[in-house]
Amino acid sequence: MDNKVRGILIGRMQPIHKGHIQVIKKILDEVDEIVIGIGSAQLSHELKDPFTAGERVVMVTQALAEENIDPSRYYIIPMEDINYNAIWAAHVKLMTPPFSIVYSGNPLVKQLFEEEGYEVRNPPLFDRIHLSGSEVRRRILNDENWQELVSDSTVAAMAEIRGVERLKNLSVKEISDL
Ligand code: NAD
Repeated sequence: MDNKVRGILIGRMQPIHKGHIQVIKKILDEVDEIVIGIGSAQLSHELKDPFTAGERVVMVTQALAEENIDPSRYYIIPMEDINYNAIWAAHVKLMTPPFSIVYSGNPLVKQLFEEEGYEVRNPPLFDRIHLSGSEVRRRILNDENWQELVSDSTVAAMAEIRGVERLKNLSVKEISDL
């Protein structure tokens, strides 16, 4: 199709945080373009997956714009999960621009792409203790400083969609669930 070297990074981005941004920058040092797959795109309004794929696309786009990353160097593609792990890598390939390098620290993701013959690279982890989606969501629920873990534009996007209220509401169990 063209001679560009593309890498892919798939993450749920619930929400995108500073670790994702650093790893995206690092990958862009190694390849011409990056495909950013928004994983589990069908999920939203759940404690572990509160934001819709569309909301996550906006948050990722704005966070990368805030970093002055050239928009012609990335594609943001929502990727729904499928029931069959054995054909997931083929499903990802079908839905994305051609790529040759897969960046992931997730053992299942690595295995599935390696079995399909892709080069898989382990991206460095940046302050993983604090920079993780689950830590951002935990701090939101506990009224701790989650804002320092994400971009300013993500804080603004969360305000626009009332993301904090959504997450807190999701954490309240209905009497019937107890
Ligand atoms: P994740 O959000 O935990 O992480 C995505 C990537 O971001 C990681 O591989 C890591 O490289 C990077 N990252 C995260 N925190 C970082 C930090 N602090 N510093 C540097 N890098 C950091 O996402 P995940 O769980 O790996 O996402 C995989 C997606 O693929 C999920 O949505 C999963 O459902 C999907 N999946 C689907 C199937 C299927 O449908 N059958 C199979 C396998 C995977």
